Amino acid sequence: MTDRVPGRTDWSRRQMLHALGALSLASLGCGLLPGRTAKAPAHSTAEPASNPSALPIPTTPKKPGKYFHRVSQYVFYSDFPLEPTDPLFAELEGLPDQIQAELKLPTGTSIIQVFLFEDQEKYEAYIQARYPKLPVRRAYFFAEQRGSSLPDDLTVCTWLGKHLRTDLRHELTHALLHGVLKAVPLWLDEGIAGVFEQPAHQAGVNTQHLEALRKSGFAPNLARLEKLGQVHQMEKPEYQEAWAWVHFLLHSTPANGKVIRDYIQTLRTNPNPGPLLPKLEAVVPDPNRVLTEHLTKLEAPRLAVPVAGAR
Ligand SMILES: [Zn+2]
Repeated sequence: MTDRVPGRTDWSRRQMLHALGALSLASLGCGLLPGRTAKAPAHSTAEPASNPSALPIPTTPKKPGKYFHRVSQYVFYSDFPLEPTDPLFAELEGLPDQIQAELKLPTGTSIIQVFLFEDQEKYEAYIQARYPKLPVRRAYFFAEQRGSSLPDDLTVCTWLGKHLRTDLRHELTHALLHGVLKAVPLWLDEGIAGVFEQPAHQAGVNTQHLEALRKSGFAPNLARLEKLGQVHQMEKPEYQEAWAWVHFLLHSTPANGKVIRDYIQTLRTNPNPGPLLPKLEAVVPDPNRVLTEHLTKLEAPRLAVPVAGAR
């Protein structure tokens, strides 16, 4: 279904192509809020009363809203015309089905509002004015509580940068998960987003994460990772490790896949199911070692360089 504001012109295809032309393969440092919820600030955003004798009052930055386009569960808002036939919209439309198929989750019905700012300056001005305590990030997902009996408002904010595709896939994955689960442990949330931020044909392989782990002398420790509950505790190595665990669980053996899918199913009704590690250890005696082996296999094609004496 396509909804467009009547009488608007198409958004610049060149602009979109520019945005997609220099895609990064991975995104670090997403703006998932601490605790994954945010309350609307207490101050009013109403325009101040006119007072000619007063100094000019800076205008409160606003979210984009001149144009909108609905795709699946998403409603995209912008201050520039949108092109409904852009391939990115079609790709994002398939993301819920991809998540549903791979994680065995129902497709949620919650509307996800996506605010696309024209540039970084406007985006950051809005985020800093609306959420002054938040660090600068390329994109944010907000799950804002509306009341105990109402579902959360699910919102994504980002701008037309070169990481647009990856950032939208990443943040929309968070939003889609939060639309159907009671809660998502931080490591799992970021690990799943790290897998699904990649286009479907990548089979979840996040090349940037993989190469970083290889160079870092990675020593996996799921017990430690599961204890991290604050966003500020998640730095690049933790994002990379979270991706590695989720990729391993989803793309190694059927038994491992069942462990993560069963755990995710539990999160539909139980926000505090305890750690996943004991459930994994029941089928994999030494998960940390096996994860390392899994990553080595993923690396193998990239390391297929002839070695002297090895032929
Ligand atoms: Zn994230």
